[in-house]
Amino acid sequence: MARRTLLPQAVTLTVSCRTSRELGAPARRHPVTLNPDGTVETPHDLDQERILAALGGYLSCLELVDTVAPAFFDWYRAQVREVPRPIRAKQPAGPWRAAKRAACCPARGFDEPQEAAEHARSPRHIASLAGIPARVLGQLVQDVTVPPPAEAGDQPWATLWECGMHPDRVELVDQTIGALSPMPVSFYLGVMSTNPRLTWLADTIWNVDADMDTAIWLAWTYCAADRKDPAARTGWLATGVLRRLILPLMASVYTVADVEAFANHWNMSLSGAAVELHTWVEAGVCPPVSELTGPRTSHLGFPPRAPGFVARYRLRNELRQTPVSLTDADLAMALVEHGDVLRAARALAR
Ligand SMILES: [Zn+2]
Repeated sequence: MARRTLLPQAVTLTVSCRTSRELGAPARRHPVTLNPDGTVETPHDLDQERILAALGGYLSCLELVDTVAPAFFDWYRAQVREVPRPIRAKQPAGPWRAAKRAACCPARGFDEPQEAAEHARSPRHIASLAGIPARVLGQLVQDVTVPPPAEAGDQPWATLWECGMHPDRVELVDQTIGALSPMPVSFYLGVMSTNPRLTWLADTIWNVDADMDTAIWLAWTYCAADRKDPAARTGWLATGVLRRLILPLMASVYTVADVEAFANHWNMSLSGAAVELHTWVEAGVCPPVSELTGPRTSHLGFPPRAPGFVARYRLRNELRQTPVSLTDADLAMALVEHGDVLRAARALAR
């Protein structure tokens, strides 16, 4: 089986090796070599030492091989920006957090992506994830330097390198979306945060002829509904509905076809229909559009508005003696149809 390459070349470190856990126990300094394939060479016969350890013996190099070396490889991968998504945020303004959280991470996150990325690749954080003392990893890495590649000298690559993104990854994104010149940093950070399918991003940008602002918004807002139906976003953007309404509507039961049916029935624009349906989503009750345009609304001269929580609560309370189970949508539609709580209660109790 081919092993993964973890280091570009072998790294030899000098460690102090002890045969006792006790503080101040005599130590012998010797080299340890970490190989590109993740194996570790020490002057010990480690198989023999494992048997001795099972019998109660101790060798610090065994711990080194089993727990410290894997943490060193993780640290190295982070330094060379081989960790694909080291940090994330929910919106461009942050806060930013390490993708893998540990006890060392500040609860409120970091204001800047650079700060979060620096923390995510620090010996302290990586040691914390590995469950080893930060000091141990810190000593191991103190003499290892990892210079940035030459491509990371200019913008936006320099900032993205600080944020933990390798120029090769930037290049891959650019190639996939067909960008002729680099996008703004915020675009790539969105890609890092939401991890969209790059082909989805490329197709959607192309389909809607996205301007830069829209492209950045797409990178930051890839969501479950896009995963389920990669064409949905293109459809929503084509309606001209306000962007801030698109995401909550996509996360709801309503589709573009619903907005169109609602707009047709109530003789209004798609944007207007989206605003109306969004008020239902906000109210936490989403009857099917066939109901919102059906015979129970035929007496209305304007689109039905979602009854508030208080009215629904009062109606449910009025019906507490009635042995029928009604959903929130049932209650809301009864309020739409009958106008107020008492009349709706009377109709439902019949
Ligand atoms: Zn941390």
